[in-house]
Amino acid sequence: MRMRVLRRNCAWALVFCALIWGKPLHAQTKVDVVASFSIMGDFVTIVGGDRVRVTTLVGPNGDAHVYTPTPQDAKKISDARLVIVNGFGFEGWLPRLVKSSGGKAVIVTATNGIAQRALENHADPHAWQSVVNAKVYVANIRDALAAADSAGAETYKANAASYLAKLDALDAEVRTAIAGIPAAHRKVISTHDAFGYFAAAYGIEFIAPQGVSTESEPSARDLARIIGQIKAAKIPAVFLENISDPRLMRRIAAETGAKIGGTLYSDSLTPENGAAPTYIDMVRHNIKALADALTP
Ligand code: ZN
Repeated sequence: MRMRVLRRNCAWALVFCALIWGKPLHAQTKVDVVASFSIMGDFVTIVGGDRVRVTTLVGPNGDAHVYTPTPQDAKKISDARLVIVNGFGFEGWLPRLVKSSGGKAVIVTATNGIAQRALENHADPHAWQSVVNAKVYVANIRDALAAADSAGAETYKANAASYLAKLDALDAEVRTAIAGIPAAHRKVISTHDAFGYFAAAYGIEFIAPQGVSTESEPSARDLARIIGQIKAAKIPAVFLENISDPRLMRRIAAETGAKIGGTLYSDSLTPENGAAPTYIDMVRHNIKALADALTP
């Protein structure tokens, strides 16, 4: 009898311990990583798998060009082992945020090793729009996670390898889709200049009334120039973006007779129930929208 009570107490004690300690202990073993924006959050989640807990600062449909960090963001950064950012001037608000968080987090720049596309006034941060560049992001994330958590190095390597194979297939998909569009039709208007790396990698010309950042509005002269370009080059379609005000493009479409080719996802994923909840979904959505609008 005594034995039984003891055993039962022991069992309860175990359940109790599991309840009290099990979850927090398990959670504590995860590597806390902050990703600066939703596309980066997707990469880190895939490579990190079960070993990491990812917090994304600029969430779905958010615009990282004009983001205003909150005090909670500083707390997230001070709690994190790694902060993974795009760099190339994309997150202009980040240095001050890191400073206000105590400045101890390890900052990892995922574009390390990519040649930045230089423009007249600005350098272009949107390197992820080329799938070949996305593979560099993934390799950098893999190496940074392995350096921060060496016990997980093999896991990160395996997760990255299987995702890199998917990105290779995605890159081939993009090339096939573009090859199906007649060369003379490979011209698009997008709201802001977010597709320069895509254009360079895959041979589609993008013209954008807004520059590489959404911060500045196009001038009347810029608009007139673009409307002239659309008419002269007979550009068949203009595209909206999930992070930009659609009114500008609707006006350009009305003035030029170009059709609205749908929405392109440039700087941000959508929520789970949207058209582009992951990077691969985003690229697939964009190439389908381009092929549908540009193929006569
Ligand atoms: Zn952008």
